[in-house]
Amino acid sequence: MGKFKSMHQIACHECDLVQEIPPLPAPATACCLRCGSVLFRTKVDSINRTLAWTIAGLVLYVVAVTFPFLAMKNGAIGNQTGLLSGIQQLYHQGIISLATLVLLTCLLIPLLQMLALFYIFVPLKLNFRVKYAISMFRLFQKVKPWSMMEIYLLGILVSIVKLGKMATIVPGLAVIAFGLLIFVLTFALSAVDSHMVWERLGGDS
Ligand SMILES: [Zn+2]
Repeated sequence: MGKFKSMHQIACHECDLVQEIPPLPAPATACCLRCGSVLFRTKVDSINRTLAWTIAGLVLYVVAVTFPFLAMKNGAIGNQTGLLSGIQQLYHQGIISLATLVLLTCLLIPLLQMLALFYIFVPLKLNFRVKYAISMFRLFQKVKPWSMMEIYLLGILVSIVKLGKMATIVPGLAVIAFGLLIFVLTFALSAVDSHMVWERLGGDS
């Protein structure tokens, strides 16, 4: 992805040539005039697809946070744990850095991403302007690499297998929601057409 200088100007990331780009129909690929490297690709129906996946993601998120994650049963003793109570337990056990990391990468950042997309794309869809949309989109792009839900899910699956020898583990609805959320969020992120967003917001980065 090249670097935007202004609304319709983009600098090639390979050779730094700044060039004017007219509005392009989707799907289209804009290539550098001098070196031919891809400047960006426009995406078909980006606004609708991003919004649909984002809304689905928010619903799954609510399910993942509110419903039980795992139910453990060892003889007569039963125990249920949720996503939040799992992180709480880490805090109580004194593993504060890990608890904070899990809280950030698995819960707060994915939520922030979805809320940012919702905040930016609803006005784009309905053609009105909101304050701070440009700052929100910048923040959205910055936190992207810090979303690591799949690692958390992997950890959960490993512990299910390990604990399975000691107790009966029943995966809850939240595990399924969380697993689906990983895919849905990936689809939402890949539907985002950054060039189109910058062009519509009139910002530069
Ligand atoms: Zn170039």
